[in-house]
Amino acid sequence: MASAATLAAATSSLLRRSSPLLLRRPHGLRISRDVAPRRIGGSKKQETRTRNLELPVPRSVRHIASSTNEESAARAAAETADTGGPTIFDKIIAKQIPSNIVYEDEKVLAFRDINPQAPVHVLVIPKLRDGLTGLDKAEPRHAEILGQLLYAAKVVAEKEGVADGFRVVINNGEEGCQSVYHLHVHVLGGRQMKWPPG
Ligand code: AMP
Repeated sequence: MASAATLAAATSSLLRRSSPLLLRRPHGLRISRDVAPRRIGGSKKQETRTRNLELPVPRSVRHIASSTNEESAARAAAETADTGGPTIFDKIIAKQIPSNIVYEDEKVLAFRDINPQAPVHVLVIPKLRDGLTGLDKAEPRHAEILGQLLYAAKVVAEKEGVADGFRVVINNGEEGCQSVYHLHVHVLGGRQMKWPPG
């Protein structure tokens, strides 16, 4: 697991490359200055005042932080992946917790991702998981629901006005950065996608 120290080292190395002035603090600058000496008890005392100047974190650093979070979430989720226990998506299906639903039919539910990676970022999930913690668990009997998920992804893209350019992603397993073990399709759009993906 990437420790805070690893992240701090990566951040500091990036900042070092972008500006040698920022060596001293990962997200800011420490400015010290000597002020006029004061006479205390017969002797002059030199005083140094220090203040911290907070600087915005560069986008490249934010990207590292965000990727590291996703990877740690994926590692943590992988530990309980195959227990088949309920996930946060079961609560969304049961409407026990709120979600922003974009599309729903008998078999699938589509709702906005809580941590959007594009102007349009919708998750499409089967209402009945039927063993599909991830795509790697797919069996021939799942062919129908897999087709329904992809069809729903297209319906969502149309509803969201991005049908002429969008991306469909399924993260699978720890290395695939999967963090919720209830099969889901990400529908992303509303910006120019890059290739290869990270
Ligand atoms: P993955 O990393 O492919 O397993 O995707 C799981 C997605 O679920 C992530 O993009 C999360 O942001 C999203 N997510 C987790 N909890 C919620 C929630 N309560 N409502 C909406 N999206 C969620």
